Amino acid sequence: MVISSIALAALKSALGPGGWTEDPAEIAPWLTEWRNRWHGHTPLMLTPRSTEQVAAAVRVCAAHRVAIVPQGGDTGLVGGQIPYGEVLLSTRWLRAVRDVTPLDDAMTVEAGVTLLEAQQAAAAADRLFPLSLAAEGTATIGGVISTNAGGTAVIRYGVMRDLVLGLEAVMPNGEVFNGLKRLRKDNTGYDLKQLLIGAEGTLGIVTAATLKLFPVMRSRATAMVGLESAHAAVQLLARAKAETGGGVEAFELMKRIGMEFVLRNIPDSREPLEATPAWYVLIEMVSGEPGAAEAGMERLLTHAFETGLITDAAIAQNDAQRAAFWKVREEQSAAQKPEGGGWKHDVSVPVSRIADFLDEATAAVERFEPGARVSAFGHVGDGNIHYDVLCPVGGDHPAFLARWPEGSRIVHDIVARYDGSISAEHGLGRLKTDEARRYKSPLEIQTMQAIRAALDPHRIMNPGVLF
Ligand SMILES: Cc1cc2nc3c(=O)[nH]c(=O)nc-3n(C[C@H](O)[C@H](O)[C@H](O)COP(=O)(O)OP(=O)(O)OC[C@H]3O[C@@H](n4cnc5c(N)ncnc54)[C@H](O)[C@@H]3O)c2cc1C
Repeated sequence: MVISSIALAALKSALGPGGWTEDPAEIAPWLTEWRNRWHGHTPLMLTPRSTEQVAAAVRVCAAHRVAIVPQGGDTGLVGGQIPYGEVLLSTRWLRAVRDVTPLDDAMTVEAGVTLLEAQQAAAAADRLFPLSLAAEGTATIGGVISTNAGGTAVIRYGVMRDLVLGLEAVMPNGEVFNGLKRLRKDNTGYDLKQLLIGAEGTLGIVTAATLKLFPVMRSRATAMVGLESAHAAVQLLARAKAETGGGVEAFELMKRIGMEFVLRNIPDSREPLEATPAWYVLIEMVSGEPGAAEAGMERLLTHAFETGLITDAAIAQNDAQRAAFWKVREEQSAAQKPEGGGWKHDVSVPVSRIADFLDEATAAVERFEPGARVSAFGHVGDGNIHYDVLCPVGGDHPAFLARWPEGSRIVHDIVARYDGSISAEHGLGRLKTDEARRYKSPLEIQTMQAIRAALDPHRIMNPGVLF
């Protein structure tokens, strides 16, 4: 993809000094990402500071048929934010919290505000913005919207799609869609904002969003639990939901091997339980009533222990213990890196079938790759498992990584038979679009292509991503 010097000059002039850079050293950090898997290139990085500047840039791109890759915090895990010759448009400088209106339980923030800053702005108004994930200090609101991110509290509050009331975006022709409504009810035809959520930058550039806020919970209890099987974890989840009437905020499953990776490879991590069970679950419960979450957790775990559902448990007694429990969960991915990396899968199946899926997929993977180390972990509360397969100890890493596509096909075919999804929360990006063609129906793919062609006839928005 070659961009003409006339188009580049028009873009620089539209944004003015400080609104762009072509300095390779300044651009370099934004051409690769967390897993160091994608290494892109671009002639120009745009750094607009207002919606008007984004619109001006997109108008130039539309006129000159210049392709654009939008980028927020660059924490995406499927390469969708990395340009390969396109202009890179960073939304990081769209930084304003425009308003917080507690009576509407709503706030409007610009796309470059980080997820953590959005949570803090809500907390300052005694409200909760509940989306939470390990990259929240860097991931931006525009990015979590465009990937329809999930995270750890989906079981109670839903995914990003459930948390957006309104959206402002620059469409592929440079027009601004002003949909920053705070309404809970608006049945006036197709919902354009929902099309843009999860679109991975292919239908427009999100510049601001009105987000749904919730009451701050007055009590919270966190526990680490040991179990003999994932089947027991699914049963414990059902019991926890029934007993708390919806008070379970997180229910995170981890395998023993993942815990061993953390203990071995992450400094200052500690074994959370006295025993070493086959599986761990991190449970977080909340309640609007002071003391109720702690009491509910005690009741649940006592009963689960007495009936043999769990083998061990520890309830966090203070914030430091709570943070230590979350650390072993959040470091599951990072702890794999020194082990040589592996075949990653971000899949979901119905909650009731998670344990069967894990049994079947692990047996199939072990048949295909004897000695492979399966480190499954994730958000069991919403059926989402990060099913990672690591090279056998002493194995040939490059040869193992070369078998990733074949190994993934085995895992994904089983996911499809369980009526699941091959991308539960990270999106398709550059990594999984081709693989998704195998599992999505022609009707779905053609409908997506028709919508895209209607909004972006010259396919200038993130052309290497989605169908
Ligand atoms: C350590 C770690 C933990 C993670 N945990 C989770 C998790 O628990 N749950 C989960 O769902 N995800 C998780 N993720 C991945 C998740 O997709 C990202 O963290 C986040 O959603 C992306 O935000 P970002 O601002 O970094 O977007 P980027 O990486 O910059 O971009 C991601 C995609 O969105 C597009 N995009 C970005 N901004 C805009 C915009 N303003 N308008 C239009 N398109 C845009 C890009 O083109 C790209 O396709 C994790 C990632 C890491 C590194």
